[in-house]
Amino acid sequence: MTAMDPILRPSGSRAVLIDGKAAAARVDAAAREGALALAERLGRKPCLAVVLVGEDPASQVYVRNKIRRTESAEMTSREHRLPASVSQDEVLALVARLNADAHVDGILVQLPLPAGLDATRVVQAIDPAKDVDGLTAASAGALVLGAPGLRPCTPSGCVYLAREALGELSGRHAVVIGRSILVGKPAALLFLQADCTVTLAHSRTRDLPALARQADILVAAAGRPGMVGVDWIKPGATVIDVGINRVDGPDGSSRLVGDVDFEGALATAGYITPVPGGVGPMTIAMLLVNTLAAAARRAGLDLPEPAARMLTS
Ligand code: NAD
Repeated sequence: MTAMDPILRPSGSRAVLIDGKAAAARVDAAAREGALALAERLGRKPCLAVVLVGEDPASQVYVRNKIRRTESAEMTSREHRLPASVSQDEVLALVARLNADAHVDGILVQLPLPAGLDATRVVQAIDPAKDVDGLTAASAGALVLGAPGLRPCTPSGCVYLAREALGELSGRHAVVIGRSILVGKPAALLFLQADCTVTLAHSRTRDLPALARQADILVAAAGRPGMVGVDWIKPGATVIDVGINRVDGPDGSSRLVGDVDFEGALATAGYITPVPGGVGPMTIAMLLVNTLAAAARRAGLDLPEPAARMLTS
């Protein structure tokens, strides 16, 4: 039995859809409950500061969504907008101010930063205790060590959805395609921490289809539309599609697709995340849980249930 509710199986297909939107709504609700409980202990709401530099339209949409969901979860969000012409020192000075602000629990710098700014330096300047994206060297080190720390949101969402579908992950073979700092590498480490046997594949991997076919859990995070064909999937495997790719249709319209040939995969996979509506919504859900966890840890408190159960490691 799995924890999934409701089970959605498109007609004529073998695969069950993993409903990321519904899962994210449950995590958001747990975060909200946790935020209300924590606010009583802290005497204020948990607070997320979001830094947006420049006018990138996609980043503006992401930031708007993050702020909306943070506020729906009864947390305070502070938006700090800087023009694309801002200097590196000015961005670093803002991060330093947010690090020092006792009322800020989480800091998120929306990436990518405009050309001319060094995103690595900016991200590494964030206090690890407030690193709700889990991207600082300290957070990455804690993940490698299996020590407490804030984990990257999208990979946490992948593990969460795999658990929703399969329950216990121990002993399963997870093949992760993609080795980025943001997704692939931390996803591999999180599945390892969940006691999976993990293979991390990338653009230089030989005979990737044969390797992918060995996976009980196949995580596709390459950013290549439709790359994972039906012949890459072991019958019954759980497929977590992280890819978000915009492709143009013949009529000039565009749509979002994942890295998996979704229609083909429906015939073979046991469980599969759709794009959109799979991993995507989980990223912000995990950001909310991380903000709550940061607020609790900074105050020396335990993260309240049920939010604590939402943490994947
Ligand atoms: P990236 O470009 O930084 O990394 C891609 C990785 O895929 C690289 O490690 C590369 O080695 C590997 N790769 C590329 N082509 C390959 C191939 N042909 N065969 C095997 N491996 C290959 O991208 P990223 O930031 O890790 O993002 C990956 C995808 O996930 C993108 O589509 C991105 O939009 C999406 N994404 C989604 C979310 C979400 O919330 N759902 C969050 C972050 C990223």
